[in-house]
Amino acid sequence: MQKGHIGVTTENIFPVIKKFLYSDNEIFLRELVSNAIDATSKLKTLASFGDFKGELGDMRVEVKIDKEAGTLTVSDHGIGMTEEDIERYINQIAFSGAEEFVNKYKDTATSIIGHFGLGFYSAFMVSSKVEIRSLSYKDGSEAVHWECDGSPEFTMEPCDKSTRGTEIILHIDDDNKEYLEQARIDTLLKKYCRFLPVPVVSGKEQEWKDGKYVDSDRDKIINSTEPAWTKKPSELTDDDYRKFYRELYPGQEDPLFWIHLNVDYPFNLTGILYFPKIKSNLDIRKDRIQLYCNQVFVTDSVEGVVPEFMMLLQGVIDSPDIPLNVSRSYLQSDSAVKKISGYITKKVASRLDELFKNNREDFEAKWNDIKIFIEYGMLTDEKFCDSALKFTLLKDTDDKYFTLDEYRTLVEASQTDKEGTVVYIYATDPVAQYGHIQSANAKGYNVLLMDGQLDGHFISLLENKIEKTRFVRVDSESASNLVPKDDKKISDLTPEQISLLTSVFRSRLPKLDKAEFLVSFESLDPAADPVLITQNEYMRRMKDMAATQTGMTFYAELPDNYNLIVNTSHPIVVKILGEAEKALGEKISPLNATVHDGNEKITALRSEIKDGKPTAEQEAEEKALTETVETARSEQEKIISAYAEEKPVVKQAIDLALLANGLLRGRELAEFIHRSVSLL
Ligand code: ADP
Repeated sequence: MQKGHIGVTTENIFPVIKKFLYSDNEIFLRELVSNAIDATSKLKTLASFGDFKGELGDMRVEVKIDKEAGTLTVSDHGIGMTEEDIERYINQIAFSGAEEFVNKYKDTATSIIGHFGLGFYSAFMVSSKVEIRSLSYKDGSEAVHWECDGSPEFTMEPCDKSTRGTEIILHIDDDNKEYLEQARIDTLLKKYCRFLPVPVVSGKEQEWKDGKYVDSDRDKIINSTEPAWTKKPSELTDDDYRKFYRELYPGQEDPLFWIHLNVDYPFNLTGILYFPKIKSNLDIRKDRIQLYCNQVFVTDSVEGVVPEFMMLLQGVIDSPDIPLNVSRSYLQSDSAVKKISGYITKKVASRLDELFKNNREDFEAKWNDIKIFIEYGMLTDEKFCDSALKFTLLKDTDDKYFTLDEYRTLVEASQTDKEGTVVYIYATDPVAQYGHIQSANAKGYNVLLMDGQLDGHFISLLENKIEKTRFVRVDSESASNLVPKDDKKISDLTPEQISLLTSVFRSRLPKLDKAEFLVSFESLDPAADPVLITQNEYMRRMKDMAATQTGMTFYAELPDNYNLIVNTSHPIVVKILGEAEKALGEKISPLNATVHDGNEKITALRSEIKDGKPTAEQEAEEKALTETVETARSEQEKIISAYAEEKPVVKQAIDLALLANGLLRGRELAEFIHRSVSLL
């Protein structure tokens, strides 16, 4: 019997392994089964090269629990190890046998998993003692037994194993008894070994007998050895892809479409990415992309490996070139990973482009479901954005779809403003903004529907990407001012008339919580509404943004600002003005004169003041004048508002505008209904 010292530079390698190297001790099983699969694949490779001429026989890998003995055994019928092999590959742990092998059989050895570093030693995370019993495939080999209790001391001696291959026997320690439960092992095997290329057997198939499930005498195979992504796209039908999707994510709606990834230079990567039906929100998904390394499951947190927006996708990525067991920050800076991520982005973009080109109708039908993904991608990934501009669609309020170029052509002629900027008009809520949409359409304008979760940000992006473009919401201006062609047609009222009408309307403005109205006048189409309510595009965007961002509370706290536009060409407004002038003219014109007079005197007085330093006299005079003006003004207001109160038509016109914008609610709405009934 040989006694020896494991060849590591530090004495404390085991505590290190136990504590730091692997945060999840369950992965020991993945490591050991991977080694067994490796050993099996190696023998198959040798056989195919004629370097092994014996019978391959049953090549299944077995994971077996012996509760009484307290052991878990992973056994294979692969190449096995001689005493020298164990000395080199196990005792000298820094030396990776897989690496040497891959170098020799470089081109065919892709199925060899050798990327887990200290794989075998992870067994000590759950064991008080580990034994190896192995018989090499080499002619005339002697079986060897190795044993180690987790200290750097081991023993090695010949033994009587008669079948080729390796058994790794773990004496599970007291803290990890869970690994002696078949159900626990099944769960782990399902997680890590579901798609391994060699059949893995563990426990027995269950059968229904005498009212309960019992072990049958059939071995239970836990994996499917040829998952769809390992096949060529030409060998797979659409149904195969869907079937595989259901295998990965049982109980989900069928995916919209998929992308088969397959590269071997400059890195090796296979996989299938699925576009799921995304339920209109960006919640963190439970069923995520799974990362494999030669069919061994590694993780389903692929942050860093795929661009962030791809997290919305599902499926499988398999690459031996992704460094495992390294930190995320390392992963993100790794150049191979960067290339992989870039490749995936390119593939996804070109697949979308292909779908768009090959079947526009189908692409349009799927647009609602993939839009959020594409927008998210465009907003977060510059490269993706550039390719996606080709197949990004805009949808209008009549459910018609346009590419960006098509849309430009459509609206350029009619929607270019006086600065030469093309104005893209959009609605965010076709029901609430119905009236505005109608008015814009009547002007010959097209209105886009931008009701998606990310559309606010997406609009800013498009404004950046498409030159000389500006987006305005359909209710941000009166229809005739959405695309300003010449200078705004200010109404042709006199200042006195404007002042009178302003007071009339202002006195009847609603008192809404957190909303402010600014009264203005425009001479619009006489057939347009008498009163319109619009909301300034810029202010609204700031508020929308503030709502979703921290640090912008200043904007979020501001009230909503609305413009109450009075259409001075409308017969009702003309009538209101005429009647008011008639009824109030005599009463308010002297007050008007006082105001006018006072203001003129104030101006004159100010021009007299030299060096900005008024004398005490001048100061007193200005104060007196200001007071006179203020008094006259408030007197005027009082008279006008008393008058307006008796004129239900003013309030009615305002309320109609509020109603058209969904702003008439609660008490105000009840009063409106009441007033309407009495007007009838
Ligand atoms: P790695 O797999 O990264 O090389 P391991 O510690 O898991 O690291 O294994 C070290 C070496 O031991 C392997 O490369 C292989 O040569 C050998 N080995 C481990 N398990 C087996 C096995 N079941 N059959 C044959 N050789 C094995």
